[in-house]
Amino acid sequence: VNELELISLLTRSLPGNASVIVGAGDDCAVLDLGLAGEFVLFKTDAVVEGVHFESGAAPEQVGHKALARCLSDVAAMAGRPTHALVTLGLPPAFDPVRIEAVYRGLNQLAVRHDVAVVGGETTANPGGMLISISLLGRVARERCLLRSGSQPGDALFVTGDLGGALERKHLTFEPRLSEAAWLADHVSVHAMIDLSDGLAGDLRHLLKPSALGALLQAESIPVSRAARQRSRTGLSSKSPLLAALTDGEDFELLFTVAAGDAVALLDAWKDSFPKLKLTCIGKITGQPGIALRDKEGLKPFPHHAYLHFA
Ligand SMILES: [Mg+2]
Repeated sequence: VNELELISLLTRSLPGNASVIVGAGDDCAVLDLGLAGEFVLFKTDAVVEGVHFESGAAPEQVGHKALARCLSDVAAMAGRPTHALVTLGLPPAFDPVRIEAVYRGLNQLAVRHDVAVVGGETTANPGGMLISISLLGRVARERCLLRSGSQPGDALFVTGDLGGALERKHLTFEPRLSEAAWLADHVSVHAMIDLSDGLAGDLRHLLKPSALGALLQAESIPVSRAARQRSRTGLSSKSPLLAALTDGEDFELLFTVAAGDAVALLDAWKDSFPKLKLTCIGKITGQPGIALRDKEGLKPFPHHAYLHFA
């Protein structure tokens, strides 16, 4: 079984209870724990040596990435992160100085976003370092954004540049928490997700709950300089466009708004975030699947997400 098949097998019959508003299958679980006007967001995520970071990676950046991935999922729901627990799996001959540095990177990011680190667990892990984070957050009930909710005709937007993240920012990215909060305050966002598996894969997650499709404009896709460079120098066999569509770990926001709101959104965005690109890359359609329009015409785009096991 591949990763998606395994997830669907495991999530088929998970126990729930009356507090669960959204369970497995969105960026965070959404819980009604009786807070006035707010839902609680709940998330877990892990980074593993040799999978999500190389053994020689700067430990501060490893700690940063471990927490930033969870914060990005809270951003995808327009929430505010509040509390984290940290589980460390450590190989037999670990260097305590290195572990302290991992925590330093993690703590610095936590402080910047007012996240309290309230405990954790350490265990042996012969295969290498593993850092698993559990995160709580909060979101006003009417602001909580899900992956579902897109409508045919909606404009599809993405923040930042895409592709080549392994080359440039997967250890240092800033989760888009303030941008997501701004969006929830200023625009009627229909659906949102953060990009972890690559645009094409995560777009499929956005389309699936509503059985919709998307039409992407190839020349509008914001291809990163790193993606162009990797392709030009032969570091990647993908074309820059394919890299932007399928490389993982961008941690940008992908969201939909009514087409009529698109121009006002772009104008207001430029005033608020002059340094961060926001691009309309296409639209939502009623025809399931992803289609790509380039100079040669319109064709289906069959590529899927990055899978940890396939
Ligand atoms: Mg996510």
